Amino acid sequence: MRDENCIFCRIANGEIPAATVYEDELFRVILDMGPASKGHALILPKEHFKDVCELDERYAAKVLQLGGRIGAAMKKSLGCTGFNLVQNNGTSAGQTVFHFHMHVIPRYEDGAPIVTWNPGSSNPEELKETAERISSCL
Ligand code: 5GP
Ligand code: ZN
Repeated sequence: MRDENCIFCRIANGEIPAATVYEDELFRVILDMGPASKGHALILPKEHFKDVCELDERYAAKVLQLGGRIGAAMKKSLGCTGFNLVQNNGTSAGQTVFHFHMHVIPRYEDGAPIVTWNPGSSNPEELKETAERISSCL
């Protein structure tokens, strides 16, 4: 299903032009208009899913492998030495467009940090209790 009011539905289906890296029956891969680094791409499903929790299994089965292919092509073509696959779900996680997408962000030697956090502390009891809470909702 598509949502006519969704910008990524319209881009993925070719109604709005975007620099396209790859296209098949299920996905269009475009360059991000506000790139974190040169070549930053977005993998867009052609159907509308708000986030990873809604993503249909046909897409879910293929998106990670496609991310790997795009990243490998970036290493060959752009000279990056690594890449991040980033996928935000929810406003608190930084999602700003509510149509599932996966970022493929090329990483260059001496490039600015992109995906980072300050490691906190933990203890085994707390980890066990937290693991059990998550597990109880699966
Ligand atoms: P999010 O923060 O939701 O994970 O990522 C949304 C991304 O989409 C941002 O990096 C933003 O720059 C990109 N973006 C938003 N609107 C457009 C657009 O119309 N065209 C392109 N090419 N990128 C977009
Ligand atoms: Zn959409």
